[in-house]
Amino acid sequence: MNTERSSGTALQLTGVTKSFRVGTETVRAVRGIDLSIQRGEIVALLGANGAGKTTTLDMVLGLTPPTSGEVRVLGDTAEHAVAGGRISAVLQTGGLLRDLKVGETVKLIASTYRHHLDVDEVMRRTGLERLANRMVSKCSGGEQQRLRFALSLLSEPELLILDEPTAGMDVNARREFWGTMRKEALEGRTIIFATHYLQEADEFAQRIVMMAGGEIVADGSVSEIRALAGRKHVSARWADARDEELARVAGAERVLRRTGERVTFESGDADATARYLLTETTASDLEIVAASLDDAFSALTSTDRTPATTK
Ligand code: ATP
Repeated sequence: MNTERSSGTALQLTGVTKSFRVGTETVRAVRGIDLSIQRGEIVALLGANGAGKTTTLDMVLGLTPPTSGEVRVLGDTAEHAVAGGRISAVLQTGGLLRDLKVGETVKLIASTYRHHLDVDEVMRRTGLERLANRMVSKCSGGEQQRLRFALSLLSEPELLILDEPTAGMDVNARREFWGTMRKEALEGRTIIFATHYLQEADEFAQRIVMMAGGEIVADGSVSEIRALAGRKHVSARWADARDEELARVAGAERVLRRTGERVTFESGDADATARYLLTETTASDLEIVAASLDDAFSALTSTDRTPATTK
């Protein structure tokens, strides 16, 4: 028996890199990723534009080979897992024939699989019944995403990959979509989705893998990532602060910004930082605010982490 199957590993990336040649430059889109995802996990791949999310998912789907490292999907190569219908994807664009009706599309794609779920059942589960007779070209962006989702379910995949699945959906469509996804997750499917939206990752995923500049910069349960966000911002008026004094401030992890007379620190122990500033320095006029999840995200994925290019 395949040990990766019995050990329940859905996805294993080991030392994975991907570089693209663009003219005389090499874009290092993915720069050495180690990632292990267990069956039944719901994982959000979170990152800003260009972080390397799509490139990573493309390798998982066997659409492009890694430059180095190894990708194992459900104990097999990505190509075999895709060919066997064990992994499927909802990608951002493309893949639909505009001149077919929604129902016809689902039937057509179903006919390409030897074993597939009942078409009516898939239409019902994805809320497409009332759209069955609508031309794909007349469907909204959100409805087309729902159709891609239906197609991805036909082969009853064990692992579902979604690349920004709710792009183009309004708030209601987004909520409805995630409601359906939640039910799929309860069936024991492993779900990995890429998103820009913190809130989406927060609400739906059990685990968040944050990417920036082709690397994984944070990986943890939603509560662990929230703890990162539990840091506070402590700011004070401290006009004459010297760099070496700033570096000594108790509890402060870094100087977030220095504007005019004010200095703002990110602090893991706001009480210690405040006490130090008020008793050991000339700082005054303190303000303490909780850093948000957005702050944690910005700190971890700051722009100096955009992909390196080498000549
Ligand atoms: P987005 O959220 O915008 O979709 P992403 O996190 O999915 O971003 P990728 O699409 O994986 O990021 O891109 C990572 C980096 O690799 C970017 O700098 C991108 O320009 C570059 N890149 C991706 N595909 C190619 C390609 N085929 N040729 C050259 N560069 C590429």
